[in-house]
Amino acid sequence: MRTIQMVDLRSQYDKIKAEIDAGIHEVIDSAAFVKGPKVADFQEHLQQYLGVRHVIPVGNGTDALQIALMALGLKPGDEVITPTFTFIATAEVVALLGLTPVVVDVDFDTFCMDVSAVERAITPRTKAIVPVHLFGQNADMEALMALAKRHDLFVVEDACQSIGAAYTFADGRTLKSGCMGHIGCTSFFPSKNLGCYGDGGAIFTNDDDLAKKMRAVANHGMEVRYHHDRVGVNSRLDSIQAAVLDAKLPHLDDYIAARRRAAAYYDEAFAGNEHILTPVVAAHTTHVFHQYTLRLQGIDRDKVRDMLAAAGVPSMIYYPVPLHLQKAYRDARYKAGDFPVAERLAACVLSLPMHTELDDEQLAYIVEQVEKAVSNA
Ligand SMILES: *Cc1c(COP(=O)(O)O)cnc(C)c1O
Repeated sequence: MRTIQMVDLRSQYDKIKAEIDAGIHEVIDSAAFVKGPKVADFQEHLQQYLGVRHVIPVGNGTDALQIALMALGLKPGDEVITPTFTFIATAEVVALLGLTPVVVDVDFDTFCMDVSAVERAITPRTKAIVPVHLFGQNADMEALMALAKRHDLFVVEDACQSIGAAYTFADGRTLKSGCMGHIGCTSFFPSKNLGCYGDGGAIFTNDDDLAKKMRAVANHGMEVRYHHDRVGVNSRLDSIQAAVLDAKLPHLDDYIAARRRAAAYYDEAFAGNEHILTPVVAAHTTHVFHQYTLRLQGIDRDKVRDMLAAAGVPSMIYYPVPLHLQKAYRDARYKAGDFPVAERLAACVLSLPMHTELDDEQLAYIVEQVEKAVSNA
């Protein structure tokens, strides 16, 4: 059996080596390393895949979030609502920009932002909501967009883990993750569902004016060369990364199918185990399984992890500490116990190996070892 990894990028590369290598060599031969034609090609192809008017390639997913917020014209002290159970990036960019992060609890089954909690957190200073489509399924966008409309708020989707996931609204429209709010952000970090071989990210929008502003912000605040109308940053997707992404994009739907197949295998195997709650896919969204995350109950999670590790099965805890309990974000407004669902999840989640290259032999072995560890922990 091949060694089991959380993510197996090497085996994935072996299958499309010729396409990737050709793309990379094309960039080197052209010497167009920054803003080359490969970046424009990938941008165009991703726009088509997503069905969105504008894709703005940037340096990474965190930059994408920062640039999105910089384009909204927010003022210091304006409040931005984000979930407390997630990766740090959303709260981080809000804090860096001098805005006030307001965190809310999440739903126990979907891990995504609890919309009723968002509604309770809205104040006259609230300007934007940043939902995170955590682990690969979309947050409740129908309710969030309706709420945002009622309160005249921007919605910036963190689609770093959910590229390719679809959401169907009550009026029948089906849209791709990151293309439902005013702005969507994604990351092409290597282990993401569409990952490059370094850092990369992109911003999506259907709004021409916001697109223009965000292109300028990402390029030193400049629309006309050496004329700087706003404070910007320097954030670019480099051409070699664009070549890798352009080679991988045609495979994205197959990659999603491979992840779903592995998830279905796990789901079936763990169904009915009293200690294991498997992922729940909410109505109206599809799931692209960036992570396959169990909730364990009535057992010692650390013991389970140790036994798995000893058997050669890696596992991870995404995420062990909610934002409101992180040292850098400790704040008189929040204390332990304020967000009970997030705190409960942080104590019981366990993510299993999930990638495009898991075969039946590996899946059977992982399942066997998880069952064994769970019954002995
Ligand atoms: C990966 C990730 C980011 C940040 O992306 P980088 O490209 O690493 O900057 C932001 N939010 C979420 C939910 C992520 O998973």
